[in-house]
Amino acid sequence: MQLLIMGPPGAGKGTQAKLLVDKFHLVHLSTGDILRAEVKAGSELGRQAQGFMTAGALVPDHLMNEMVGEHLQASREQGFLLDGYPRTVPQAQAIDAYMQEHALALDGVLNIRVSDERLVGRILGRVSCPACKAVFNLESNPPRVENICDSCGAVGLEGRSDDDADTLKTRLAAYREKTEPVLGYYRDRHLVHHVEGDRAISEVHQDLIAQIERLGLS
Ligand code: AMP
Repeated sequence: MQLLIMGPPGAGKGTQAKLLVDKFHLVHLSTGDILRAEVKAGSELGRQAQGFMTAGALVPDHLMNEMVGEHLQASREQGFLLDGYPRTVPQAQAIDAYMQEHALALDGVLNIRVSDERLVGRILGRVSCPACKAVFNLESNPPRVENICDSCGAVGLEGRSDDDADTLKTRLAAYREKTEPVLGYYRDRHLVHHVEGDRAISEVHQDLIAQIERLGLS
């Protein structure tokens, strides 16, 4: 199974991706998570990416393409869910060429749709667990006990440093300008399947599973 999940920032993409990789035993290739780990580790890539990330801007395509290629190779046996990449048409073209060269092919693109008004509330309330990366939302999906992770019990849920209102505007603008055209790119290849994201997490999850089943992949 070789899938891509898309949606604007705050659509619940990360949450849904986690549920899907658990259900279908896929490797979760989240470029945001991979980059944050690189920044934390103080690697050369992390050093180059950090400024762009803090500003809510996109990391340059050539850095992303190289990074993702390595991860795809390592995940091909198990199957993967790409999350957060490609985010520009040149990235989509690069990964297409890479996949063709390495006998890989996307089975489908799952797109989570959410209205703009809902996105803002969702992003500004987002916190995550520093230990296991579980994501919560103080408005729509709070942890059972304040500041404690439901999944692993770690104390001290963190807001993301790129989640403040100004950065959000930059990220939404980057999404509209650079990432929405990627959907068009895959639509032309008849790969896109839409799911309405303005609903409970479990409902969106069930819809995603139904889409995957329709693709004949499970
Ligand atoms: P995310 O967790 O997916 O929202 O990613 C966090 C940040 O990492 C983004 O705001 C970008 O700065 C950077 N990033 C992640 N994936 C990509 C990508 N495919 N292309 C460019 N920048 C990316």
